[in-house]
Amino acid sequence: MDGSPLPRMTPELREKWRKRSDAAFERMFGNKSQAELVTFTEREDMAVLIAKELAAFLLEEHLAQDPLVEPDQEKPPACPKCQQPGQRAMKAKEKRPDRQVTTRAGEVRLERERWKCGKCRILFFRLSSWHSNLIPLPSYSEFSAC
Ligand SMILES: [Zn+2]
Repeated sequence: MDGSPLPRMTPELREKWRKRSDAAFERMFGNKSQAELVTFTEREDMAVLIAKELAAFLLEEHLAQDPLVEPDQEKPPACPKCQQPGQRAMKAKEKRPDRQVTTRAGEVRLERERWKCGKCRILFFRLSSWHSNLIPLPSYSEFSAC
């Protein structure tokens, strides 16, 4: 796209993933779980729950590496309404606001800097830069009146 760095597959992240997926496997196949996984529905519920948790983890970690966590001042994110370059709306040393986003994998937590558009008088944050023109995102998660 615009030369943004791709998400990195670090050994730390891989280890974090291994621990999560091992724990998930244990919940499904470990001895302690078998008394609670008797009926078809119990097994189905557990498998779907685990898949959702793992999906949320992958999504959260991937989003945490997006350049829009802390956009370059030289390339500010565009206002979601008028597409004009936004202005940074963060105080000095202010912690990046936590965002809770509802996804198909459930609630996902992410940090994004706050930006503003003087013309539209809104505050906003961008969810992602990678392929943002290919995957339509729900409008409520694109900007907010924080
Ligand atoms: Zn605007």
